[in-house]
Amino acid sequence: MSKKIVVVGSTNVDLIIKSEKLPRPGETVLGGTFYKAAGGKGANQAVAAARAGGNVYFISCVGNEYGDESIEGFRKDGINVDAVKKDPDVATGIALILVDENGENSISVASGANLSLTVADIQKAQHIIEEAGVLLMQLEIPVELVEEAAKIADAAGVKVILNPAPAMPLGDELLKYVTILTPNETETEILTGMEVKNENDAKEAASVILSKGVEMVIITLGAKGALLATKDEINIIGAHKVDAKDTTAAGDVFNGALALAIAEKKPIHEAIKFANAAAAVSITRMGAQPSAPEREEIEQMIPQSIT
Ligand code: ADP
Repeated sequence: MSKKIVVVGSTNVDLIIKSEKLPRPGETVLGGTFYKAAGGKGANQAVAAARAGGNVYFISCVGNEYGDESIEGFRKDGINVDAVKKDPDVATGIALILVDENGENSISVASGANLSLTVADIQKAQHIIEEAGVLLMQLEIPVELVEEAAKIADAAGVKVILNPAPAMPLGDELLKYVTILTPNETETEILTGMEVKNENDAKEAASVILSKGVEMVIITLGAKGALLATKDEINIIGAHKVDAKDTTAAGDVFNGALALAIAEKKPIHEAIKFANAAAAVSITRMGAQPSAPEREEIEQMIPQSIT
């Protein structure tokens, strides 16, 4: 049983100011509170998989600003950082996030070092990918890297989980290498061009994605849980009833925990229950990476009530 999970993806630092209102163009709003948090979908998912109990190898690129502290953070979570590159000429990816008192936000991202990761870096890490139980990726790095890593994994019989976020259309070539695709409702709409307003819409869209050669589709449905579609079944696996405080990165925690469960060869329904439970714990807490739960917390959530 290999718990080795390779995550290829982004590292960001979130610089957040919470204030009464969002500034309009040209306006300055005083009186906010500042905080900083480690972020980026790749890093969030790597941390979530590590806390859930995985042996995680991260392939990413950080920059001059915030680079060392990002790597230090991964190490603290026991993540292998041998394939985390540092580009001395640009800053680590930065998300500038403004949040108002209603939770409405406005975000601007400078991808920075995330764009310095190259196909050659992926090829250099080929042996790491080939020895993995699972390869987990998202779309905050150039898509040709995602394709290259997926191709290497597929050739070696390694399962590929692709969380197609942020939303963008994808070529059919990439989807052929994907074992499990995990879009949320918006991403499903962008991938298929179909409206997803209810369960039936989600089922129809999942069938369309399956027809492109993906083995399984798991559409995350927020408080409704997750829809699993394979060639044999389409079923919804309910989410937990929790008091939601902050749903930031619920999807990232879901994907990290799912990767761990798949690496442990849990049957797919069990794996989704594990991922739903991990995401449920995370939304009872503030923040992205700080909210990712430890294994024990996930296991305590599993038997608790489901929607
Ligand atoms: P994303 O954060 O990518 O938009 P979702 O909102 O679909 O993704 O959430 C991902 C997963 O997080 C869901 O499948 C579910 O397991 C869990 N989740 C999200 N919101 C809630 C909620 N309000 N209550 C319980 N679980 C939730």
